[in-house]
Amino acid sequence: MKNIKNIILVGSGKGGVGKSTIAVNLSVALAQEKLNVGLLDADIYGPSIPKMLGIMTKPKASDNKKILPFEKFKIKFMSIGNLIPQDKAVVWRAPMVVRALNQLLQDIEWGELDILIIDLPPGTGDIQLSLSQNLNITGSVIVSTPQEIALVDVRRAINMFKKVNVDIIGIIQNMSYFHSDEDEKKIYLFGKDGVKKESEKLNINFLGEIPLIEEIGRNSDQGIPIASLLKTKSSKKFTAIARNIISKINNKNDQNVKIEFE
Ligand code: ADP
Repeated sequence: MKNIKNIILVGSGKGGVGKSTIAVNLSVALAQEKLNVGLLDADIYGPSIPKMLGIMTKPKASDNKKILPFEKFKIKFMSIGNLIPQDKAVVWRAPMVVRALNQLLQDIEWGELDILIIDLPPGTGDIQLSLSQNLNITGSVIVSTPQEIALVDVRRAINMFKKVNVDIIGIIQNMSYFHSDEDEKKIYLFGKDGVKKESEKLNINFLGEIPLIEEIGRNSDQGIPIASLLKTKSSKKFTAIARNIISKINNKNDQNVKIEFE
């Protein structure tokens, strides 16, 4: 992992809050800032990144028998979903999953990366703990929706990262609000600013918010992350969050990513 300057874990307390959607779109947005970005889907029980990036095939091996990551939308990526048959459920116990992930991390030929984003499974189990402890992590980014039921699990995720001394770069509020194309009036389906208020209470950086937008879900299903469509409003939102993350990393350790904005 010597060629990887920064490793960022993307986690969530709950499943279904848009963690993988954010991990994919953030990776694409970071690559548009001229960084070399890798994305590893470690959501072993529900790998959705092959579908979200439109590559469901098995990877190729390099001459020295390493796994070559896929390259699309200017990022490199690999998912456990590309290594096991699509409809097969993973019924491994946690220690086996941890071993498989550690092996996978060693076996992928990433090349030089400014940032490796790791999409964690939801929650606070053995897999999250083991990756946090075994790797030299720059920090974590937590994704949540604004309602209290999600925030309860966010607090658990925050406590877990604190316990294993992983710095929390910040938190992103997903599905913040909805509005129709005709009507600019925002509807706060899950309450207003729950994550933002929580971040203030816990003294954690609020990195930004993504509304519930139909095209984000539709594009994910079609394997084209919205962040790759530069003119859309949604892609600009991901760019803003990506820039926020870069500046937080730059502040944190000066030998790492350096990026200049035009
Ligand atoms: P998680 O990784 O937390 O389980 P996913 O990223 O798989 O969640 O997202 C769950 C579903 O919600 C997917 O169908 C995804 O396309 C959709 N989704 C996520 N974020 C948004 C959003 N901001 N707007 C619209 N749909 C979204």
